[in-house]
Amino acid sequence: MGTRPLLNRRLDGLGTTIFAEMSALAATTGSINLGQGFPDTDGPEAVREAAVRALRDGRGNQYPPGPGVPELRTAIGDHQHRFYDLSLDPDTEILVTAGATEAIAATMLALLEPGDEVIAFEPYYDSYAACIAMAGAHRVPLTLRAPSFRPDLDELRSKITPQTRLLLLNTPHNPTGTVLTAEEQSSIAALAVEHDLLIVTDEVYEHLAFDGAAHVPISTLPGMRERTVSISSAGKTFSFTGWKVGWVTANAALIAAVRTAKQYLTFVSAGPFQYAVAEALRLPGTYFEDFRADLQRKRDLLGEGLRAAGFRVYQPQGTYFITTDIAPFGEKDAYAFCRALPERCGVVAVPNSVFYDDPNAGRSQVRFTFCKKDDVLHEAAARLQRLAS
Ligand code: PMP
Ligand code: GLN
Repeated sequence: MGTRPLLNRRLDGLGTTIFAEMSALAATTGSINLGQGFPDTDGPEAVREAAVRALRDGRGNQYPPGPGVPELRTAIGDHQHRFYDLSLDPDTEILVTAGATEAIAATMLALLEPGDEVIAFEPYYDSYAACIAMAGAHRVPLTLRAPSFRPDLDELRSKITPQTRLLLLNTPHNPTGTVLTAEEQSSIAALAVEHDLLIVTDEVYEHLAFDGAAHVPISTLPGMRERTVSISSAGKTFSFTGWKVGWVTANAALIAAVRTAKQYLTFVSAGPFQYAVAEALRLPGTYFEDFRADLQRKRDLLGEGLRAAGFRVYQPQGTYFITTDIAPFGEKDAYAFCRALPERCGVVAVPNSVFYDDPNAGRSQVRFTFCKKDDVLHEAAARLQRLAS
């Protein structure tokens, strides 16, 4: 095959995702997996039954329509109206995707030219880096710095160049748990208007903002509808991460652009599950309130365990992750720490260091997920207590 590397240069260095690596480590060592973010309890029984019914009734077993089944697109529109007072046309302003992951990929491939710059918060969710790279564009990180992990908006302004095409937001933010305030989003929106930038916002944790923090979709701000692509997914909100049902909402021109790329990625996916997610989106308000309250309680449960074990804990305002620092143990290298943690304690976590371009910014940060059963979290906390002795 000659000497030319098989993997093209755009994907050079992307390797295996940290989530796959750490879940494999959990499996081979029999450790408690607080690395990859997936719940250990499935979502509502009624939603699972809705999927079974769709399968049995032959709904979605053959290719569903390219933009998604009408029942789901209507339900997504009604959900956006119920929670955010947004009115969307299900035929032209909503696109169903194979999870938020495909939504991110299709959006980047559709909107970016090679050489464009994308400003994204770091630590960033790993698929952003890969999708920006696959589009031939360049990632320009805006570092969220401990302990507050708030974006520095002057720094954001200073990073905008004539090559900047879009701002990639994620709120509530994985892995830091930062929830952007309405004021922060207004400032970001003003910059987008001033420099004529597109905004792509990943809101998969939209129902996981804690302590009364409100999740405000930036698309609800004045003037933002015309330049914002909003992405979400059923995986997190309904605890069915394996179903991979996601969606994009935006104005018709942006949806048409994203759909153009999306139809050549998967074309369609998850037929029967689309009907089930349509039902999930219509669950009563109490479902969403209880889900949030339960995860907030789990955050506090794990947070306490991590503090007792000696970690520095950065309290997340949202998502189902806690970012910690291992400096109190006299350790500096999060990746080495996570590789050794199964042997030391029988627990798996994820090093945030891999979510940064700046090698110093997150070197000693380690992320734990708390979307697990209480007894699993208690057991993990007890095992991590070994670090304290
Ligand atoms: N964005 C963020 C911030 C995530 O944490 C994840 C992981 N679920 C995704 C996107 C991907 O979502 P999905 O599983 O729906 O593809
Ligand atoms: N979003 C999940 C996390 O951040 C993982 C998804 C994945 O494995 N790609 O842990």
